[in-house]
Amino acid sequence: MVGGKLTANWFSEAAGGFGNTIEITKELYHQRSAYQDIAVYETRRLGRMLTLDGVVQLTEFDEFAYHEMMAHVPFYAYASGVPRRALVIGGGDGGVLRELSRHPELERLDICEIDAEVIAAARRFLPFTACGFDDPRVKIHIADGSCFVAENRGCYDLIIVDSTDPGGPGEPLFGAEFYAGLKQALRPGGVIASQGESAYLWPDIVRRLNRLTGELFQYSGYASILVPTYPSGLIGTCVASDGGDVALPHRAVPSELQKRLRYYNFEVHRSGFVQPQFVVDLLRENL
Ligand code: SAM
Repeated sequence: MVGGKLTANWFSEAAGGFGNTIEITKELYHQRSAYQDIAVYETRRLGRMLTLDGVVQLTEFDEFAYHEMMAHVPFYAYASGVPRRALVIGGGDGGVLRELSRHPELERLDICEIDAEVIAAARRFLPFTACGFDDPRVKIHIADGSCFVAENRGCYDLIIVDSTDPGGPGEPLFGAEFYAGLKQALRPGGVIASQGESAYLWPDIVRRLNRLTGELFQYSGYASILVPTYPSGLIGTCVASDGGDVALPHRAVPSELQKRLRYYNFEVHRSGFVQPQFVVDLLRENL
């Protein structure tokens, strides 16, 4: 559904008929794994950048926005006490783990990534996110996330699906069966948060994920995240739980942690779920 190509020293990614161009100063790594084309570039203004199959996954410039929201929204949306066990599906760059590792309350930090070569490339070239793997609580599982959740019922308080877009190895992570598996892999009151795409670019995907989470869970919502280097400058996360309203933070962020965060705070959590009218209409359809 999307594609990227490098022309001279400009990388471009087009989605939905328009796109972003990013000036590259050096290609640091480029390999084809069993699952996808993996590249890491040095850019002129945005630090290092990871692409998979020609699609920007992160840049050093703005990755904090996505990773903080993907980790802290579900953490604080958990309404049944304190979450202890977290699972990341995908997330091979380590950014979501880095953010989760800021919470000493978490006793278990599992990650299920399909492609060991993404983790290896991140460890070599993206230390600013791969530092998430250094936490001793982290346990790495190399497997397809859809199989992993089916085999681990009733295990987790938080499950974060930090996947690539549909069309590649991430395809099963957008289906009804997977979402039913996510629900079964939660402990009572658990929260899921998934990469929910952009409502400008992929309204059908946003609508479908919202329908799936709305049918399965008592509370669900779609929160926007501003990420300038993703096409349309916007991505979202679908958050859902049976434990309480996911659009509200249920605990305060400790002041020492808040000082280290650059995007997430109490107001951003709440306002992320406040949507413009076309998204409100989109999310209501099929419910
Ligand atoms: N934030 C990014 C974005 O949306 O642009 C996603 C980043 S993260 C690198 C995505 C990861 O999901 C990749 O490393 C990819 O290998 C992994 N992945 C894709 N399909 C998967 C699957 N079925 N099971 C587990 N991991 C998967």
